[in-house]
Amino acid sequence: MTEKLYDKDAYGSEFNATVLSCEEVKKGFKVVLDKTFFFPEEGGQTPDQGTLNGIAVTHVAIKDDVITHYLESPLEAGTNVTGKIDFTHRFRNMQMHSAEHIFSGLVFKHFGFNNVGFHLSDNSATMDYDGKFTYEEALKLEKEANEIIIKGKSITAEYPSAEELAKLTYRSKKELSGPVRIVTVEDTDVCACCAPHVHNTSEIGIFKIVSFENYKSGVRVNYLAGFRALEDYEKRLSDLREISRTISAKAGEELNGVIKLNDDLNACKFKDVELRNRYIDLKIQSELKESGTGICVLPEDFSSCIKYASETLKKHYKDMTVVLCGNDDTGYRFYAESDSINLAEILSDMKKSLEIKGGGKPSAIQGTISAKIAEIVGFF
Ligand SMILES: [Zn+2]
Repeated sequence: MTEKLYDKDAYGSEFNATVLSCEEVKKGFKVVLDKTFFFPEEGGQTPDQGTLNGIAVTHVAIKDDVITHYLESPLEAGTNVTGKIDFTHRFRNMQMHSAEHIFSGLVFKHFGFNNVGFHLSDNSATMDYDGKFTYEEALKLEKEANEIIIKGKSITAEYPSAEELAKLTYRSKKELSGPVRIVTVEDTDVCACCAPHVHNTSEIGIFKIVSFENYKSGVRVNYLAGFRALEDYEKRLSDLREISRTISAKAGEELNGVIKLNDDLNACKFKDVELRNRYIDLKIQSELKESGTGICVLPEDFSSCIKYASETLKKHYKDMTVVLCGNDDTGYRFYAESDSINLAEILSDMKKSLEIKGGGKPSAIQGTISAKIAEIVGFF
């Protein structure tokens, strides 16, 4: 069993310990110490980061109360080592984790729902609840959580005796055996938990819901707290400044700017369709000839207009209409229709001498052809 230094002191970051064992594994070495400040991956939270004798700890795991540190280089069993955890990273996890207790405590108090899934990594944090509430209700709890944070309530951790525990009402994610560590947020929440927390809610700074969705039979809340919330705020402001600069909108006017930009874009798209159709009308009109077969060749960026061109041709030619879109270098898309001529036969003839991909039925064929326009129109 490894002595968990973080259990009693969440703020310690440097320690000396004895190497009990060092074993080579697939990718590096796994080291067990007599004691450690490294919080392992546990309860949905990713582990502490840091070094042992200057060697980076790549992962920390716990099994049967033994904590294993994974390193790229070995440490000699029986020697003393100096461990350092990255306290900047640890403190952010403490802020995030402590905020989870407050919010989950409020969800339980107001709705009676349990936190049935918790995930805390460096780039995302989610809390899953076993019942549904609305985003508006979640925002009310967010405000209440922030009021608790500002009031500076104490957060304590202790191991009550079996007798005391039996009398205590507390939240717990799983059936617990052995000594139970109880974490209490003053006037707010009592919960069984093994992780390091801040001593006072004011150290959390801020709690913010980032996204909210229905999940299984309940809801999933994605959130940030403390410095991670501050860093996220700066990232979003930086994005907004970039948007503001890109669309030439004043600060605070970005949303209206984007709405206007979108309206303008839709108007342009509409105008673009109108102009392309007008171009097709004029082209077909100017190329009119006395024939049962009408052929219209469009530039390569007109592929979205093929059906329109085909419909327009049908007004003038009764036997067959053929629309080709492309150029001699990169090839053509084609679409042909006829009520009286078997186009499937034409397609099969074309396949004998041209590089062509396509299919259809006797009354309509389509596909792509790599050939010169003069060769293609010879088949129709
Ligand atoms: Zn906790």
